Amino acid sequence: MKAQEKLLEHLKTFPNYNVAKNVIMFLGDGLSIPTISATRIYLGKKNGLQYGEEQELFFETFPYTGLSKTYCVDTQVADSACSATAYLCGVKANRGTMGLSASAPRKSCEAMNNASNHVESIFTWAQEAGKSTGLVTTTRVTHASPGGGYAHTAERYWECDENVLRDGLDPELCSDIAEQLVLARPGRDIQVILGGGRKMFRPVTSVDEEGDSGSRLDGVDLISRWHTDKLLRGARPHYAWNKEGLLKMDIENTDFLMGLFESDHLLYNLDTDATKEPSLPELTEVAIKMLQKNNKGYFLFVEGGRIDQAHHETRAQKALDETEQFQAAVRVAAQMTSEQDTLIVVTADHSHVMTHNGYPRRGRSVFETAGVSNRDGLPHSILSYANGPGYKRPTSNGSRYDISTDNMRDKDYRFPALAPLGSETHGGDDVPVFARGPWAQLFTGVLEQHVIPHAMAFAACLGDGLTACWARRHALRPEDLLHVPVAPWQWSPRAWATA
Ligand SMILES: [Zn+2]
Repeated sequence: MKAQEKLLEHLKTFPNYNVAKNVIMFLGDGLSIPTISATRIYLGKKNGLQYGEEQELFFETFPYTGLSKTYCVDTQVADSACSATAYLCGVKANRGTMGLSASAPRKSCEAMNNASNHVESIFTWAQEAGKSTGLVTTTRVTHASPGGGYAHTAERYWECDENVLRDGLDPELCSDIAEQLVLARPGRDIQVILGGGRKMFRPVTSVDEEGDSGSRLDGVDLISRWHTDKLLRGARPHYAWNKEGLLKMDIENTDFLMGLFESDHLLYNLDTDATKEPSLPELTEVAIKMLQKNNKGYFLFVEGGRIDQAHHETRAQKALDETEQFQAAVRVAAQMTSEQDTLIVVTADHSHVMTHNGYPRRGRSVFETAGVSNRDGLPHSILSYANGPGYKRPTSNGSRYDISTDNMRDKDYRFPALAPLGSETHGGDDVPVFARGPWAQLFTGVLEQHVIPHAMAFAACLGDGLTACWARRHALRPEDLLHVPVAPWQWSPRAWATA
């Protein structure tokens, strides 16, 4: 019966050819397919389902799904910087760089200051169309994924001037990422900035609201610069550093919102004090309330950034828990918007090397052993990593480490890894894309990652590539697009209009 119901649901799915007024992009950093499968079981068991595997994450209910190929120009396996350039700016780039074409080598200040190497992101395209823009993340707001939306940098770790100096370069010549967010475009026009990373904005000589010192050596307090900039522009800014300050904000009478809730990244959901620090679903809700005031619509980027960091630590439980929070944030966005005018795209930047393996019985917690090896008589875990700090040394007699007495349900347990590395690596396998709303049908098949922002721009009529508005203006039916006579890389709406 369930299968027939699902089939009927698919038969009732029709392509949506509306223009997207709003676009919300959800980026699960490191949200690999095994992470999704394991999170279903984690969540299903928490929800008291009979087994767990039958659980759906909210975005799995979306009507269209595709795969994204994540490699970068110089590396087979992506990092979060080159991939952010792909899914936000629409071109593949070199590892470690953001907002720059592949002509710019990593750490080259000269190449980064050469405007011909700059590529613009969907934040700029949306602002040029009169839309509001916002970014929400659980990491520092200067981290690589959100940074790909507003920075042009040859090094993802140049988050403040101290990082630039440490690489032997002059911060006067080589603008850091926090500075670009506050002082340059499109950063200074982003209405909503929510996440962590206060230290990148505050001088080293200062102590912030929670007693942490800043990292900046230039003596500039970029949070007050941000505030003053908005006032000088006749706008009403609001800065928050804790949940109370965020929730007491008068949304109607605020034009620009900056919330930095930690000196560094936000805490893991499993470690946080929910009365003090807002959750990803709560941040998403406030961001949408702020942005939906613009009747021209908005582009919002929401990152579940710590799925990735938990994997790097081989702390699988935290990665799954962060994924649960991420899918809850997607649900909030879906409930606050309409499929008729809002495109929601959920994807990841790259994979990780966690596997979901063995032949565990239905309904087993994923934080258990899968079975006993028929070679050495020792158990292996359901979740394990190809590399990372969870590596377990063999015992003195040479036999494999015995995990049977480990407490794998501890939230900080490091799951076993085959090769010892200080930080587990990303994976090179494709990642999923889930979409609903106008032109969600474009996010199907196997896509190169950098096609994603072009498809979002098409749906919302942004940028100077093909758009749904152009197709409408020419009274083209979707099937007529088959006959657009030029190769896409030669195509521009202006050229076509005068042809
Ligand atoms: Zn990572």
